[in-house]
Amino acid sequence: MNPVYASLPTTIFEEMSGLARAHDAINLGQGFPDAAGPEDVRRKAAEASVDGYNQYPPMRGLPELREAIAAHYGAHQGLAIDPDTQVCVTSGATEALAASILAVLSPGDEAIVIQPAYDAYAPLIRRAGATPRFVSLAPPDWKLTRETLESAVTAKTRAIVVNTPLNPLGTMMGEEELKVLAEFCIAHDLIAISDEVWEHVRFGGAAHRSPLDLPGMAGRTIKIGSAGKVFSLTGWKTGWAIAAPALIDMVAKAHQFLTFTTPPNLQTAVAYGLGKDDDYFAEMRAGYQRARDRLAFGLEAAGYAVLAPPATYFLSIDLAASGIALDDRNFCRRIVEEHGVAAIPVSAFYEEEPVSHLARLCFAKANAVLDVAIERLAGARKALG
Ligand code: PMP
Ligand code: GLN
Repeated sequence: MNPVYASLPTTIFEEMSGLARAHDAINLGQGFPDAAGPEDVRRKAAEASVDGYNQYPPMRGLPELREAIAAHYGAHQGLAIDPDTQVCVTSGATEALAASILAVLSPGDEAIVIQPAYDAYAPLIRRAGATPRFVSLAPPDWKLTRETLESAVTAKTRAIVVNTPLNPLGTMMGEEELKVLAEFCIAHDLIAISDEVWEHVRFGGAAHRSPLDLPGMAGRTIKIGSAGKVFSLTGWKTGWAIAAPALIDMVAKAHQFLTFTTPPNLQTAVAYGLGKDDDYFAEMRAGYQRARDRLAFGLEAAGYAVLAPPATYFLSIDLAASGIALDDRNFCRRIVEEHGVAAIPVSAFYEEEPVSHLARLCFAKANAVLDVAIERLAGARKALG
């Protein structure tokens, strides 16, 4: 057996969704919307499976999807991407992460992981035979600094995994942090594996900028995206990696022995969806922003201190500031068992020195669901505060 897996728990998302089912709770834990997602995109997938070609697509993805990805990022982020030599379609961002990590890291190498970190990064790095070196963003502003990064770099460091917008906190890297990141990567000759799956889910006009776009970073960044997040269809597991030709060649070589391809009907539908007009994206954002505000106002009225971030479909309750003397794991266990609401403890995104006073809640739910959750959490506030 491989020891990396022997020591791993089942993911916190699976665990909390299991507890939500067991206690018939409202599941604001694992991040998925309760809406069906854009009907035209889903119909495209159905049509493509009934009328289209259902055999192996090309290993790097259908040409129409690679072209749509390049055009989409040209239009939305001003990036110039060659669909033939810079894109590899994968089975979800998770596979893009795995392929990138396997492509970039060799046994004995080190990679920097910024806490709080999505749960897949460190196990994948270890499975590649490399060692994750953790640095932490510090509350209250959670900003990345050069000093923090320098504290983790060694002669063995080859890569850094970054995630902007950031799951679980919903913060976004600003221009200053991006500059710090780029200078750091260039100074130490590092590859940035840049998880940008939340790039479209942001509020209040906040712009997304990819590390790929920074001076000196084009040849050393792997930009990762996911249709699951762009179209609120988390089960579709259709993602992509984008990088300079020599780098994406290596990612594609890893991908060819992980999944080799991704279902062609979903690729066709995603290619169609990426061409949707600005109104679609604006409405999607406005809808999530309204849901964020509804949950945040309701929780604040119930006496909670809330961090309502500029991106992702998560907000966090600050337990300490809410006067609740429980750590996040205990709070999440009590609210799912006793009050019928599942959340995610933010400490699950840490391996070292966890921040344990925040509980993450997913607000991508119908108003009626959010209202019942608010009512139940108001009860929890009285019982636990
Ligand atoms: N990275 C981050 C930061 C995520 O939040 C998620 C899913 N929520 C993923 C990667 C995985 O994306 P996918 O479902 O496309 O594999
Ligand atoms: N990314 C989702 C979240 O943060 C969960 C994905 C998963 O269940 N592995 O909630």
